[in-house]
Amino acid sequence: MTNPVLKCCQLTKIYDENRVDAVPVLRGVDFVLNPNEHVAIMGTSGSGKSTLLHLLAGLDRPTSGDVFLMGQSLSGLSEQNLGELRNRYIGFVYQFHHLLPELTALENVLLPLWLPTSVSRSETRQQIQSRCVEWLSKVGLASRLSHKPDALSGGERQRVALVRALITKPACVLADEPTGNLDSETALQVQQLMTQLSHDAGTAFLVVTHDARFAERAERILYLHHGQLSETPL
Ligand code: ADP
Ligand code: MG
Repeated sequence: MTNPVLKCCQLTKIYDENRVDAVPVLRGVDFVLNPNEHVAIMGTSGSGKSTLLHLLAGLDRPTSGDVFLMGQSLSGLSEQNLGELRNRYIGFVYQFHHLLPELTALENVLLPLWLPTSVSRSETRQQIQSRCVEWLSKVGLASRLSHKPDALSGGERQRVALVRALITKPACVLADEPTGNLDSETALQVQQLMTQLSHDAGTAFLVVTHDARFAERAERILYLHHGQLSETPL
């Protein structure tokens, strides 16, 4: 049996727990993401998709329940250990690209490789740099390497963000409405590249989205509704 990349058990989240009118956003979520698997989680706005991703990445702590990343329980970890584990195993793509405006496309992609926990010891600096150029070329940005985000289109920025998330070959990439800010044609292109790149990198992929066209390309779709995950559409 393969060990899951990411798993959570009976995850609950209540914001502002001490308020009398506090309502749970997540009410006991069980979820497993296996190596190389592509899963989409759909839910309406406000259903708790971002909350769930943040908990799975250890960016926020659950009210109860636990998350396991590569078999390691996150609940007892210090912020520092959590950060190291995250850098090693998780890549992120957000709705807005979050690229650094002062850096070129190539430098933005190189950035995560400068983190000590994510550098593959077997690669030299030169090899790392060539791989970044190669991957940016794969997504059609060979002629945009030295452009800063300001000089790129929305779709181009999101493609740089994709390569940045995958370049460390993390065990999984978590994407929060990655095409939510793009027109539908560009969204489709970005989505196809995302699938292709994550297959090439051998990375599992979890995307949360309210876009059915995007979700239907995943191997498995789950629905977040009333704080619980289900395999049945609403
Ligand atoms: P989605 O990503 O599906 O749109 P979110 O996870 O962002 O949903 O939010 C789910 C619910 O939790 C919403 O009602 C939102 O207002 C609430 N919420 C999200 N973040 C916080 C926070 N930091 N503090 C209080 N309430 C929050
Ligand atoms: Mg959200």
